[in-house]
Amino acid sequence: MSRIPTDRLRALRNTVPILELIFELGIPTRKHGSRLTFRCPGCGGFPTATNPRTNLARCFYCRRNFNAIDLVIVERRLSFLDAVQFLEALVGPRSSMARGPRLRQL
Ligand SMILES: [Zn+2]
Repeated sequence: MSRIPTDRLRALRNTVPILELIFELGIPTRKHGSRLTFRCPGCGGFPTATNPRTNLARCFYCRRNFNAIDLVIVERRLSFLDAVQFLEALVGPRSSMARGPRLRQL
């Protein structure tokens, strides 16, 4: 059904650093020692974590895992295709993310 190649989707999910995306979307974050949590776009809670290895964001309260595409869909209330376009714009040649991760100072 999707006209977007699977490889392209996988690349988008894996190349947009999940924490960068959380900042980019303007999702509120909180710092707990060296850990950073974010406001779950599903339930609004903060018992959350990001995993740089899997590039997933997880909410322990509503027990959801968000990949980059899910996060955009839920936070911005976009369709799947619009979310993909949003991410493609982020990683496009003109974007700062295309030049590599640039985690802002916390
Ligand atoms: Zn949640």
